[in-house]
Amino acid sequence: MLQGPAARRSAQFIPEMQKMTAPVVTRFAPSPTGFLHIGGARTALFSWLYARRHGGKMLLRIEDTDRERSTQAAIDAILDGLDWLGLSGDGAPLYQFARASRHREVAEQLLAQGKAYHCYATPEELTAMREQARKEGRPPRYDGRWRNATVDEIAQARAKGLKPVVRLKAPDEGETVVDDAVQGRVVFPNKDLDDLVLLRSDGTPTYMLAVVVDDHDMGVTQIIRGDDHLTNAARQTHIYQALGWDVPHMAHIPLIHGPDGAKLSKRHGAQGVEEYRAMGYLPEALRNYLVRLGWSQGDREFFTTEEMIEAFDLGQVHRSPARFDFAKLENMNGHYMRAMDDDALTERLIATLPYLPGGKAVQAQLNEEKRAQLRAAMPGLKQRAKTLVELLASADYLFAQRPLPMEPKAAELIARGKAHLPALRARLAALADWSVTSTEAAVRAQAEESGAKLGDLAQPLRAALTGKTTSPPIFDVLGVLGRTESLARIDDAIGAA
Ligand code: GLU
Repeated sequence: MLQGPAARRSAQFIPEMQKMTAPVVTRFAPSPTGFLHIGGARTALFSWLYARRHGGKMLLRIEDTDRERSTQAAIDAILDGLDWLGLSGDGAPLYQFARASRHREVAEQLLAQGKAYHCYATPEELTAMREQARKEGRPPRYDGRWRNATVDEIAQARAKGLKPVVRLKAPDEGETVVDDAVQGRVVFPNKDLDDLVLLRSDGTPTYMLAVVVDDHDMGVTQIIRGDDHLTNAARQTHIYQALGWDVPHMAHIPLIHGPDGAKLSKRHGAQGVEEYRAMGYLPEALRNYLVRLGWSQGDREFFTTEEMIEAFDLGQVHRSPARFDFAKLENMNGHYMRAMDDDALTERLIATLPYLPGGKAVQAQLNEEKRAQLRAAMPGLKQRAKTLVELLASADYLFAQRPLPMEPKAAELIARGKAHLPALRARLAALADWSVTSTEAAVRAQAEESGAKLGDLAQPLRAALTGKTTSPPIFDVLGVLGRTESLARIDDAIGAA
């Protein structure tokens, strides 16, 4: 495979050329055999950004031809994941399996034109060919023995009851060039690419044929997908050429690797997009993280969606695999949460509750009062949290039921500070007005009066109000919980100490 830097440079002009010719159509074509992989999500994002950048469309195609492994649950998970990420396709998805008769029709057309042929090679013969190739150190390749079969040979095979496959009569000399916007000019000697199967012996179309026919019929102008499909691009080019169809522009993007450099897999942690939702990442933060994974514009880290659309260019997609860095994603998410308006973040947390661990129990408790408390607590909560899961954990004290479950260390703090709690309670109870400021003044005054440090009072108070040793700022907690609930929790602690 040869790759030339000159072609890489020229590939950057492709978008300009396309503007002059056809409207840009990209597509995302997942196989519904599992969840929406984070790598697939990035491919979808690149396709989506490219389409938006050029005023085009991103279409969605569900490649469900593998009937054994495709499931409705996977289709639902993929559509849901794309929807959550804000990357739904334009228009209804197209289902590949439903188009099998169209794929067959195209294969029949190639047969009729002499550009494809029936091949009666038996599985044993194909195995022998592969073994022979291995012995000679060649890539396994079909030897083309039925390309020019005589009428007699065909009649004999039929008489034996053999069922043929349909193969493309691919060029066996020269080379096939994939002019890739990311990989540059990639050259494949045709002798390495054999006559691929278009229809299996039971008449079902192969994946390779289906992809070409669908991309053509959908008017796809730019194929953006993982670089594991690069060799397929050369084979698919043969099908386009045989049909006399324009080959769409291609961009094969490197796969995502884990922090250790190995292909991203289960052992690196979360892979499915829905897991990222359950871990409390915001879709806009994940989008920003994903766009920066393998693409850059200088050192710039943060992009709003509009800025991404404006800036995205395939010419700046890196050629080497990107490494997924969970810590970086977390920091980026924290940044997005802090930058978000408090009303919006409160609403987002509430909307995400069904997906967060423990979130359904909180959802069941939500009433007007709790919503208002959550909103009031938000400025304090969001300072400390990097994910919605952490945000929910620090809002725990709002939803905890009296008497609060106590962390053992919190119970110790209460035991140690029990001398201070009754007087502190009395001073707080005497406040005419209850606010963050007035409660803070009262706690400070009480500390001074009793000759104690602020922490000596604040720590047992925190434990009494939250059941924990860490929490959002304690005066925020007093303010948000309000007089009645705060005093009742302090009473519980005094009683238990
Ligand atoms: N269905 C293929 C996959 O999930 C993608 C095919 C393509 O993009 O051409 O890997």
